[in-house]
Parts: sequence; C-alpha cells; structure tokens
Amino acid sequence: MAEKLLEIKNLHAEVDGKEILKGLDLEIKKGEVHVIMGPNGAGKSTLVNIIMGHPKYEVTEGTIVFEGEDITELKTDERARKGIFLSFQAPEEIPGITVESFLRGARSAITGKPLKIMAFKKELKEIMEQLKIDESYAQRYLNVGFSGGEKKKNEILQMMMLNPKLAILDETDSGLDIDAVKIVSNGVKEFKNEENAIVIITHNSKILEFLKADYVHVVQDGKIVKVGDSSLINEINEKGFANIAAV
Ligand code: ADP
Ligand code: MG
Repeated sequence: MAEKLLEIKNLHAEVDGKEILKGLDLEIKKGEVHVIMGPNGAGKSTLVNIIMGHPKYEVTEGTIVFEGEDITELKTDERARKGIFLSFQAPEEIPGITVESFLRGARSAITGKPLKIMAFKKELKEIMEQLKIDESYAQRYLNVGFSGGEKKKNEILQMMMLNPKLAILDETDSGLDIDAVKIVSNGVKEFKNEENAIVIITHNSKILEFLKADYVHVVQDGKIVKVGDSSLINEINEKGFANIAAV
C-alpha cells in the first residue's frame, strides 16, 4: 500500500478574524494526483497557503501531518525543506533577481548542500527546453515583464527544478493558451512518479484531459463537500457547483 504523504484532520482556519476553513479533512498518498475544485471564494487558495504555512492564516483547530510528522506549527521555509512546494495563483515580479539565480538560491536553501553549478545549468537548460521557455529567460529578472502564461510556465520550471515530494499548483493553468496547457501538463506528467504527489486547483477541465486525476474534491464554504474520481469533473461541468453537494 502506498505511503501516506499528507494528512489533514478537522482543519479550521481564520484570516483577519474571519473563519474561512470550517473542518476540512484531506489525505494524500504517494503516487496520487488530487484535483481541488470549487466556486470562487470557497477556500481553495486558503487551504493550500495553510499547507505551505503562510503566516497570514491562523489555524484554530486541527492538524496537518506530513510524512508522519505534525507540521502544523512549522514555518514556510521548514516545510519547503521537507519537500512541499506551492505555485502561486498570481506569481510576483522580483526585479533584480534573475530566474537562474532565484532557482539556484531556492535549490541550495532546500537541499542545504552546495550547488554543482555545471550540472545545475545543464539541468535548467533541459527543463527549459522541455517547457519551451527560451534560454534567454534564465537571465531575465523573475517574472518582470513576463506574460501571464510565461509566469505560469515559470512556476512549473521551479517545481521541476526543486523536485518536491508534494507539489501544489494553484490555478497554474488559468490564463494559458491550449498549447501552453499541453506543455505544462506534459511537464507535470514528467515530474510525477510513485514517490511524489500533486494537488491541482483548477477551474479548467482542459488540463485534466492530459492528466489523470485519482481524486477530485469539491470545496464549498471551507469544507470538502464531495470526493470522487475523475468522473466527478464531468458531473460538475454538467450540474455546476450549486447542485453537486446535495447528498
Ligand atoms: P478560492 O481560492 O477558493 O477562490 P480563497 O481561499 O482565496 O478562495 O478565499 C476564501 C475566502 O476567504 C473568501 O471569502 C475571501 O474573501 C476570504 N479571504 C481571503 N483572504 C482574506 C483576507 N485577507 N481577509 C479577509 N478575508 C479573506
Ligand atoms: Mg484561489
């Protein structure tokens, strides 16, 4: 049986004194692809930011266990070192830091080991080729002047270079044209193996035509109201979220 990677129990969380997550459970095993769907404002981004340890959110009840260890109180950088990665819904521009230097910094911070520069550069070049990102982008400032689609592809580049155990993609496919969705999906497929797991938050069922989801969760009002296999996506597309929760 596959090993448990992440286990969330009865998670309640607040932001600025407002309760957003209202008792959420989620279990992810190695080798699995999980999709999270749900209407705007349901709490999807809140959930994944809390998994990553964003300081803005306060966990008021419940636990987050990663590889058997309670990480509920750990800081974001500690979680990253344990192998959790979150791609942002709206990646920030960072003038003064190039894509390559950012990735080098992130890689050494996460592994805690000195970088083998030549091997790193070779790996970066290969992954950029695979994602169809022009080589010149390695020396450009992170996300500065990147189109929406380029920012999203760059998030996938980060994921592939950092090779986390749990990769969480928050609407990484939104704003991508169909060719870019294919490239990103192929990148994710390449990344996926029996030792890691992926959580994808999406409104776009296109990416799910390229990637097989093991579980689909519907989040509404801070709770998971329905779990199914990939056939749930068709049901959602037909019925809409408003009619999906009725048990
Ligand atoms: P989703 O990603 O599912 O669209 P979010 O997790 O971003 O939803 O937001 C969930 C709810 O939390 C929304 O009602 C949103 O308005 C609220 N929220 C998010 N951030 C804040 C904040 N800083 N202050 C107050 N409410 C917030
Ligand atoms: Mg969101």
